[in-house]
Amino acid sequence: MADVLVLRAIRGNARTLNLNGKRLQRVPRAVGSLSQLTSLLLKNNLLYQLPQEVAALSNLTLLNLGNNNFETVPQELKYLYSLETLHLFGNKITEIPADVFDGLSNLISLNLNNNQLQHVPREIHKLQRLEKLSINNNCLRVVPKEMCALQSLCELHLANNQLETLPEHIGYLTNLRELRVYRNQLTGLPENVCKLRKLNILDVAGNQIQSFPSHMDEVPLQELYCEENPLLKRQPVSALQDEEILSLKEITARFILSHVQNRDSLLREQIQYYPEARTILSSRNSCAQCGTWFLDMWLECVKFVDVKKKMKTSSNLHLLPMKILLCSYRCFNQRQSDIFGVAVQ
Ligand SMILES: [Zn+2]
Repeated sequence: MADVLVLRAIRGNARTLNLNGKRLQRVPRAVGSLSQLTSLLLKNNLLYQLPQEVAALSNLTLLNLGNNNFETVPQELKYLYSLETLHLFGNKITEIPADVFDGLSNLISLNLNNNQLQHVPREIHKLQRLEKLSINNNCLRVVPKEMCALQSLCELHLANNQLETLPEHIGYLTNLRELRVYRNQLTGLPENVCKLRKLNILDVAGNQIQSFPSHMDEVPLQELYCEENPLLKRQPVSALQDEEILSLKEITARFILSHVQNRDSLLREQIQYYPEARTILSSRNSCAQCGTWFLDMWLECVKFVDVKKKMKTSSNLHLLPMKILLCSYRCFNQRQSDIFGVAVQ
């Protein structure tokens, strides 16, 4: 039956070939003769490999391999230079060969939902035209930072995985409008999420988030979903008034950072010769009260912002808790009245 359809398509010089739901275990080799083909639909079959003749389909822009039995992303795809939309959802894919992305430089949409991926190769950054990436319902534990080099990406779907963090580099996805990471194990969002100045939709429901980054109100969100998270409630907690003891590393770092902030400082000039120190100091934060830079000892506080009027949110969200970092108890005692301490767990 499939062979008949392929032959008919060859005779008619077809641009679309629909072989969805034909219980195919293999794709007829004759498809390689369909050089004019732009859409090849092979959804809902029993495929686990592609014939090498597929590589001849140089005009193919849409390929649907959804709901089949692939265990890896087939190598033949790397020859499909015109491909714009690729569906691989609902397979048994545990692996993506790193070089498969080499030829997919025109890909705009990639759907890998409902597979068994534990990681995505770094080479994903080669998909420079990619606008929509869906990897929902997989087993991802990490997002490679190289994914943040996808400059065209508008939509990123990573729901139902096992992510504990998102890369700090996420701020480079400057065209991102929609980020859906619901049902993971995120304990927070990277501060650089606040650099996503086109982000309209954020779905982080069903994670372990207690508070949001401190500049979250600068993101132009229209929709925010965050139900089923242990969000901090507005209950003032006074921070423990222990004696403040900073480590030697922290004292040194604060000393250097205070000099680096000063334009005329000799240390500011000298630090460029110590790349290792610069790397350490690059993870600095600044005190929300006095602006002083510090390294990795701070007081974590929280501010509650009413976002209900600005955006559509989960129905039970009244005030959004946003993280505030302070350098010292001195600043804690001078803080504004809308900043609350966070109980030490
Ligand atoms: Zn301070």
